[in-house]
Amino acid sequence: MIDMKDVHKDYANGVSALNGVNVHIDNGEFVYLVGPSGAGKSTFVKMIFRGEKPNTGTVKIDNIDLSTYKERQIPQIRRKIGVVYQDFKLLPKLTVYENVAFALEVIEESPKLIRDRVMEVLDLVGIKHKARSLPDELSGGEQQRVAIARAIANKPKIVIADEPTGNLDPDTSWGIMKILEDINQTGTTIIMATHSQEIVNTIKKRVIALENGRIVRDEAGGDYGYEA
Ligand code: ADP
Ligand code: ADP
Repeated sequence: MIDMKDVHKDYANGVSALNGVNVHIDNGEFVYLVGPSGAGKSTFVKMIFRGEKPNTGTVKIDNIDLSTYKERQIPQIRRKIGVVYQDFKLLPKLTVYENVAFALEVIEESPKLIRDRVMEVLDLVGIKHKARSLPDELSGGEQQRVAIARAIANKPKIVIADEPTGNLDPDTSWGIMKILEDINQTGTTIIMATHSQEIVNTIKKRVIALENGRIVRDEAGGDYGYEA
């Protein structure tokens, strides 16, 4: 599970992005993170995969305080967490297969495991038939499927999705949501920052709303709660 206690984050330029965040997220939950631009959503998720460190307060995953990890141990945190971005962040010169395989090579999985697992996850997200394609030969929705395959390749306990449908049209977005729900069904915790009123109000999940770096609302099956 994920625990944050009185987390404050100020950036070097003096911007205060998180202002005393307290939250508990259990294993297997699906959580939407909503709020206006600049509310602190990206900073919140960065606290979890140690993309940024809090100034004060504690962030724990499975009861281990992330501040006890040394820089060189950060890969151990990342191994538990898959991250999906709005702009996919695929490596443009690598094929679909290679993009996913690369994520497993860097954690030194065996070639045999890599071969099996890459095709397995590409199949899971419905993109196996494009294994030899380059990212720019794919549509946005297809690229996001590859990014999700990469994120789940090493079976992380947590998947963080920072506006995963932000660059996709509505039809494509529903397909991506279906995949995230399937991944959640296998017990993986999903934390998804989003501006999609339609998705949040249709596929009901726990909603955590941030404003000015504070949690202003946290409800099971909540609404988006802002004007689109
Ligand atoms: P959101 O994801 O809700 O849009 P962010 O967490 O990206 O919010 O940003 C929260 C605040 O922190 C904003 O004012 C933003 O400009 C600022 N911020 C985010 N990242 C940085 C950074 N690396 N350096 C300085 N300020 C930042
Ligand atoms: P996001 O969709 O993740 O909120 P942004 O466009 O806000 O993306 O930020 C892109 C990158 O720039 C992030 O790494 C973020 O931390 C950084 N960033 C955001 N706001 C600022 C800022 N005011 N000063 C410096 N860096 C920032």
